[in-house]
Amino acid sequence: MGEELATSHLGALAYDPAPESAAIARLHESYGIFVDGAFTDPAQHAQLLTLNPATGSGLAHVAMGSASDVDLAVASARRAFDTTWSRMRGAERAKYLFRIARLIQERARELAVVETLDNGKPIRESRDIDVPLAAAHFFYYAGWADKLEHAGFGAHPRPLGVAGQIIPWNFPLLMAAWKLAPALAAGNTCVLKPAETTPLSALVLAEILQQAELPPGVVNIVTGDGTTGAALVEHAGVDKIAFTGSTEVGRVIQRRANAAGKRVSLELGGKGANIVFEDAPIDEMIEGIVDGIFFNQGHVCCAGSRLLVQENVADEVLRRLLRRVDQLRVGDPLDKNTDVGAINSAEQLAKITELVETGEAEGATRHTSSCALPSEGFWFAPTVFSQVSSTQRIAREEIFGPVLSVLTFRTPDEAVAKANDTTYGLACGVWSEKGSRTLWVAERLRAGVVWANTYNRFDPASPFGGVKESGFGREGGRHGLEAYLDE
Ligand code: NAP
Ligand code: MG
Repeated sequence: MGEELATSHLGALAYDPAPESAAIARLHESYGIFVDGAFTDPAQHAQLLTLNPATGSGLAHVAMGSASDVDLAVASARRAFDTTWSRMRGAERAKYLFRIARLIQERARELAVVETLDNGKPIRESRDIDVPLAAAHFFYYAGWADKLEHAGFGAHPRPLGVAGQIIPWNFPLLMAAWKLAPALAAGNTCVLKPAETTPLSALVLAEILQQAELPPGVVNIVTGDGTTGAALVEHAGVDKIAFTGSTEVGRVIQRRANAAGKRVSLELGGKGANIVFEDAPIDEMIEGIVDGIFFNQGHVCCAGSRLLVQENVADEVLRRLLRRVDQLRVGDPLDKNTDVGAINSAEQLAKITELVETGEAEGATRHTSSCALPSEGFWFAPTVFSQVSSTQRIAREEIFGPVLSVLTFRTPDEAVAKANDTTYGLACGVWSEKGSRTLWVAERLRAGVVWANTYNRFDPASPFGGVKESGFGREGGRHGLEAYLDE
């Protein structure tokens, strides 16, 4: 075992429990697929049980969508595209998007609880980040629906048709919003496939689409596993595939979709570098590092999972960082004081555990928070590795968990070289008081997003996406429309 995180429990004041009520979620026992504006039984009556990862107990049964269910959903989307949605004026489509945004706000508390139960993320994050940002995406793209000819993609941009959209489990509702809002604003219709372990918030969103009286078939939601996603990719009636998830699956999807002549956009993994120079403002920077890797248990594609620190301040940064990490509150995700929640699944926990073991075996120094972990469910204590070298697996592979690898550098050139020494290219952070240095470094980083003196900031007006094995295509902003328009 590695050594325990530093020392001081100063500041770790006792908090009374402040749990949000699970009853607010109002979950049903089971859910069908959402096709043609209604919930219906799947063709084969097969179901999946989605779990609460904080306890390991079952939350609800959802349909295990088959190829025939995907077929029904695509047919419904095609009908809606041909008969209503693509013919509607942009200003009319905007009204529906505004309505969806407002209904997400109205049902925000319920959505936050559903998301936290199904995913394991702290309620503070689902309440303050996931749900408000999901609403903000619909508001933002509602504003574009009647201005597409001014978006810079030709004078008469046209929708692509039926979009097949496959999303992961780390930000279930937010990723649904990132996919649906621009596609709908541009006049496409959609078939959405949520992740196997987190289908519930998308099903509440389906209820919201009904409340908004979105015309039937404009959005269809088929729950299931990877085979359901594959059926969507293979379907001849789908014009475009938008995927967020692992690089491995993304590669397969790109091949299959390209061969079938479909348009594709991919948001894949990352191994983001958070680069700290000697003159960085230390208190803000420590919070930024912690937020960069422990936000959402590190289940974040753009996580700042590699910390690159200038050598002359490395000891002090590590000391302060370890003290801060030891104070993170890990536990009941529904408790409003919780900082770090549960790992989303047993599979993900096994993957994190395996990679952390390689870190120890390859000689890095492990520091693990002394926090107590719940006895039920899937948990991993916040962990920092120091003495990491660029060749170790924990410096190269996406761990997708609450694990930070700390490396050092001497010069700005070396910082840039180390940051770019990865197959990925999604996001980086630069911490320095000198604007000129930050810009010099940012220009040389091979990453889709570079944050300066902050990390993990998201805004619907700002494009997000990767280079190299992190994928291609942008979501958010004016750029996000391009993935759903033909000039
Ligand atoms: P994944 O397997 O790529 O899953 C992403 C989505 O694709 C899910 O909806 C998944 O369904 C579906 N899918 C799986 N196989 C498919 C196939 N052959 N064809 C079409 N769709 C398919 O990712 P994961 O298993 O959730 O996570 C594995 C790793 O991916 C993580 O450890 C992490 O490194 C990375 N990841 C990255 C992001 C990101 O935001 N970039 C998000 C999540 C995960 P099921 O859920 O039903 O399998
Ligand atoms: Mg679940």
